Amino acid sequence: MRGRFHLPDGLVYLDGNSLGVLPKDVPARLAEVIELEWGTALVGSWDSWMSAPVRVGDKIARLIGAGEGEVVVVDTTTIALVKLLGAALWARPGRNVILTTAENFPTDLYAAEGIARLLGEVEVRYAEADTVAESLDETVAVLMLTQVDFRTGAMFDIASLTKAAHEAGALIVWDLCHSVGAVVVECERDGVDLAVGCCYKYLNGGPGAPAFVYVRRELQDVVENPLPGWLGHEAPFDFTTTYRPAPGVGRFLSSSPCVLGISALDVALDVWEGVTMEAVRAKSEALTELFIEAVLERLGDELELASPRNRAERGSQVSFRHAQGYRIVQALIARGVVGDFRAPDLCRFGFAPLYLRFTDVFDAVEALAEVVSSHQYEAERYSIRRLVT
Ligand SMILES: *Cc1c(COP(=O)(O)O)cnc(C)c1O
Repeated sequence: MRGRFHLPDGLVYLDGNSLGVLPKDVPARLAEVIELEWGTALVGSWDSWMSAPVRVGDKIARLIGAGEGEVVVVDTTTIALVKLLGAALWARPGRNVILTTAENFPTDLYAAEGIARLLGEVEVRYAEADTVAESLDETVAVLMLTQVDFRTGAMFDIASLTKAAHEAGALIVWDLCHSVGAVVVECERDGVDLAVGCCYKYLNGGPGAPAFVYVRRELQDVVENPLPGWLGHEAPFDFTTTYRPAPGVGRFLSSSPCVLGISALDVALDVWEGVTMEAVRAKSEALTELFIEAVLERLGDELELASPRNRAERGSQVSFRHAQGYRIVQALIARGVVGDFRAPDLCRFGFAPLYLRFTDVFDAVEALAEVVSSHQYEAERYSIRRLVT
């Protein structure tokens, strides 16, 4: 699979969990969309562009164990979360709590607090990661969790927590940003109600790629989009004064699709054809396991593992703690090994299974050992804070 991606020479890229690499087929396809579809055919292209959100959503569905017509590509993760949380709250009248964890990705929390304030009389309640199930009660309308923790890579069990939410009468929203394309997700089998995920991480859809929304088929005509727009209307070109939601997952559209972004994602997803998530997960586990073993063996006294040691409990990333973590990551980047830093002290390394090799893991560990053992990271230039860490 590695041959299908553009990978700069000499770079060991352990940040595919933040921004995935460029699939080789994307530039030519984008040029075609720009020059022919936009440049020449103009508005005549809208008929085919309009079907893209659901058509491209179907390519993602297979990767999260969903069926055809259950996924739509729309908005960005944050906006999609606002929509799904609002929809879930509306679908559970008489209940007024969004339950989540304080360690959740901050944008998820901001989205929850925002929709709570907008609807009024809604409370965002925080549970500890290990007491989520006990914190469910008859006031909870929706449980919102991110499966893979963006800091540590620790993973929630979708099946058991979805079941617990349902037993308490709540709906569940899973954030699959660090899951899709990295771990095995079975939305249909596990009874997941609603989910979102972003497409510029392991799916390689490009910077700012649109997100996806999953809505379980049985719920599609029950839940409503709290940010309705003309493209989620049953008949947008009737231009009627009253809103009638489209049947199916398409009702979660609001606006015209971002055609360039969705076109890049469309081609990026073709790479996954014929790839099973079981094979991806097996490679992912082998890569993270090798990295952890090698780092602990060589640097176990200097770096503290922040990710679960048990491979079944972590996603496709590994984080190590060090008081000078920011400088270590900057020194590594200067040597062509790209990871990232998450405050206050985490050096985070993502392992995108489609294009990373075991030899990349060895090279990364070698560079990390040199940077840490020789104290190279103490050089002043590595302390300069960049906007994006
Ligand atoms: C990456 C990520 C996001 C990104 O949100 P955008 O609105 O697409 O920028 C949201 N939630 C989680 C858990 C993420 O990892």
